[in-house]
Amino acid sequence: METTSRRSAITAEDLSPEQREIKDLVRTLARERIAPRAAEIDRTAEFPWDVVEIYRENGLFGLMFDEPYGGVGASALMTLVAIEEVSKYCATSGLILAVQELGSLGIKLAGSEEQKRRFLPALAAGESLAAYALTEAGSGSDSAAMATEARREGDEYVLNGSKRFITNAGVTQLYVCFAKTDKTADHDGISAFVVEADTPGFEVGRIEPKMGIKGSTTGELFFNDCRVPASNRLGEEGDGFGIAMRVLDRSRPGIAAQGLGLAQGATDYACAYAKERETFGEPIARHQLVGGMLADMATRCEAARGLLYRCGHLIDSGADGSELTKLSAITKLFCTDVAMGVTTDAVQVLGGYGYIQEYPVERMMRDAKITQIYEGTNQIQRLVIAREMLKENRAFLLAGIG
Ligand SMILES: Cc1cc2nc3c(=O)[nH]c(=O)nc-3n(C[C@H](O)[C@H](O)[C@H](O)COP(=O)(O)OP(=O)(O)OC[C@H]3O[C@@H](n4cnc5c(N)ncnc54)[C@H](O)[C@@H]3O)c2cc1C
Repeated sequence: METTSRRSAITAEDLSPEQREIKDLVRTLARERIAPRAAEIDRTAEFPWDVVEIYRENGLFGLMFDEPYGGVGASALMTLVAIEEVSKYCATSGLILAVQELGSLGIKLAGSEEQKRRFLPALAAGESLAAYALTEAGSGSDSAAMATEARREGDEYVLNGSKRFITNAGVTQLYVCFAKTDKTADHDGISAFVVEADTPGFEVGRIEPKMGIKGSTTGELFFNDCRVPASNRLGEEGDGFGIAMRVLDRSRPGIAAQGLGLAQGATDYACAYAKERETFGEPIARHQLVGGMLADMATRCEAARGLLYRCGHLIDSGADGSELTKLSAITKLFCTDVAMGVTTDAVQVLGGYGYIQEYPVERMMRDAKITQIYEGTNQIQRLVIAREMLKENRAFLLAGIG
């Protein structure tokens, strides 16, 4: 009973001394080296290779990989904490960590020992970045409706088709791609492949200009008779959709962490501003309507953090299946709705200054919007949560309790 009540109130204090040390290191790097770059990354919309270098130098990519593959095996929770800390200052830089996890998870979860040893060490060292290519022009939320095909020919698969909105397009060496190996089989006809950027027939197309997270590349991928060795297929033929969903169960909390970082960063900035800015002879923080907004912002951040840490602990406990699917979707939904609401409120606290580019909260509000859209829109998260709830209730009835 004691354990249950402790777990229901997870806070930053639940981190071990070693985990707190990592958190402090990331916080210092984020504040001192990444924060001064954030506005420029947004303005130039150039991929921040210098931030990648900071991560490499300090072994941050290694947090999300186990020791045999060149990492430090620091736990899923620590990766979430790192994404949150960086995203307080720069959501583009936070996304680099989140997508390293997203793009690697397929290999970690479904790769053979040989594939893990071939691909993971370069990812753990940050020598290569990773990408996850599921979405197509005609299939986003309904990802199983994808049209990209993979036809087996001897020891190779021949891929034809395209992907759209792929984060890290053009900056990474490894793309985990999903394609139909059996067009008649719907979800069960999808397979997963690691496609290397220098494979003949693979091409990166247009990089999209966008509202926020501007330093992150979002682009098209084309496969024109792209021949991928059969040894790059992850799992068995037909396992692809299951792999894609298991990846999302573990990567959506990373987007939740990005959202929470944005919300906390905006709250901290708005609070500091409200103590300085005076109207009617006193700091605006002393006006109860402004103080109340700040209190609500802080409350939503704390609630989001409780969920996020709980979800990190659940992943680290080795949970799989329905329990993780539901909590991961709840966490992504809640933290990213908090991100949008709180960053919008931060703009309001700053008044006219909140709306101009000189102050970071307008960037934070633009960056927050995407967290409600990618890795499954928040409408899709609600569908996932409801579906898992209905399964649970069915079990309840079958047990004769209802
Ligand atoms: C910046 C950026 C980065 C991205 N990075 C990646 C990436 O790295 N890899 C990748 O594979 N994809 C990536 N995506 C794609 C992203 O995951 C999709 O855009 C998202 O899943 C939504 O798909 P869609 O855009 O096709 O919208 P649609 O599926 O067309 O949905 C349009 C609207 O309808 C709603 N909707 C759809 N179906 C339902 C339903 N059944 N019930 C209720 N509402 C519904 C949606 O919530 C949404 O509001 C990225 C997108 C962006 C913009």
